[in-house]
Amino acid sequence: MHPDDRKLCNTREDWDTLIEYMFGNEFMTPDIQEDVEYWWVDTNDGAFVVPLIFVKQDEDKLFEYCPDYIAHEVAMGASFEIQEIQQLTGVVYRLSASGYMDCTDWECADTYEAACEKLADNYGDWDKEVEYWCEECDEKQDYTAISEAFENSWICKECRDGIHSPDA
Ligand SMILES: [Zn+2]
Repeated sequence: MHPDDRKLCNTREDWDTLIEYMFGNEFMTPDIQEDVEYWWVDTNDGAFVVPLIFVKQDEDKLFEYCPDYIAHEVAMGASFEIQEIQQLTGVVYRLSASGYMDCTDWECADTYEAACEKLADNYGDWDKEVEYWCEECDEKQDYTAISEAFENSWICKECRDGIHSPDA
């Protein structure tokens, strides 16, 4: 399957299952927020995302909350100019570690599924092998690459082939 086809044939539940298997036992786990107001800030050194819940509409606070790499660049005397700020509403996401300060910068996506895909592509391991439970017969499956299980919507080969069903 071409990677671009993934989001066309997988449901939100498929993506949730992917996120759970891919990141469930990792130190950093996904934090996906929907219907969030945020600034998309474009600069001469790249763009970044600032959820407004952290800024409380106070533009002077922007630099206190901007991502570390921008703050670092400013501290190092880099010429850094804001070129455009757009206020948008949508999906923002990052990885964070519960109880720790560790986190990635916020990023934005068009949809929940797109956020899951970007997290998986940028921070996850599609080759990670997992034991999973078939969504149809609920039988435990042998270790399988996440990419393969996901492309089959977490349904085992026997169920896909119609060899057995949950009632068999
Ligand atoms: Zn099955």
